[in-house]
Amino acid sequence: MIQTDNLKCPICSSSFTLGNNSKSMICSRGHNFDMAKQGYVNFCGGSMGKLYEDKELFRARRNIYEAGFFRGVEEAVSGSLKELLNKEGSVIAEAGCGEGSLLSFLQRENPGHSYIGLDISKSAVKMAAQQNGQISWLVADVCKIPLKDGSIDCLIDMLTPANYGEFQRILKPGGYIIKIIPNDGYLTELRQRLGKKAYEDKEVDKFFSRHFALICQKQIKYTFVCEPSVQEDIYVMTPMSGKADGNGSRDKVDSVTMDLSILIGRKEKK
Ligand SMILES: [Zn+2]
Repeated sequence: MIQTDNLKCPICSSSFTLGNNSKSMICSRGHNFDMAKQGYVNFCGGSMGKLYEDKELFRARRNIYEAGFFRGVEEAVSGSLKELLNKEGSVIAEAGCGEGSLLSFLQRENPGHSYIGLDISKSAVKMAAQQNGQISWLVADVCKIPLKDGSIDCLIDMLTPANYGEFQRILKPGGYIIKIIPNDGYLTELRQRLGKKAYEDKEVDKFFSRHFALICQKQIKYTFVCEPSVQEDIYVMTPMSGKADGNGSRDKVDSVTMDLSILIGRKEKK
């Protein structure tokens, strides 16, 4: 179910209306984007998005979400939404939504708002749309987000690269950003087995506070027991075990560490 209110044409920046039978969106200057039968819109036609296709990774990530590895994070973000957004009808977007599990969870827990999920991977967005028809799912590039200036009340960015220029642009004055970043302990058991170094402190939090007023920061840390059904997928779901670097081995892990920080920032009111 695509809502066109907050969308803008990525070619000419004008507004959209729904075309015949709601099967396409047409901007005021005639640029036309088809809606897939699964209910998402692809703004990245051509071959560009193909670089980011990794169906196995997103299938594994869906399985890991369903097994509950991210549950503590989902609940913390959901609780933050309840605190930050005190009126119904807010617009919540997630940049880099992947296969959509986090945003779907938030939508179920916090109905009464509009939700927009965007990701550059078409196969991920397709999975997301098949799971939840209450959200506007878009295949789109975070460097050129097809959303209007000042249209978003709260933006979520979890474990994916940020584009702070675009994030600033699409947020309303006084709007919130919730960014989720890894800490040292995150999946440390996998890194040890794969022979990877610890996460370097890239000062993401300092970079974040240069763009937004940091109003809250909290750490989510716990141990997750790996049942047999997730033993393989816990490796597959993370880019760190990419096939290219073959040093470490994918030995069975009995448990893995969840260790993320949630940063909440606010755009200036003006
Ligand atoms: Zn246009």
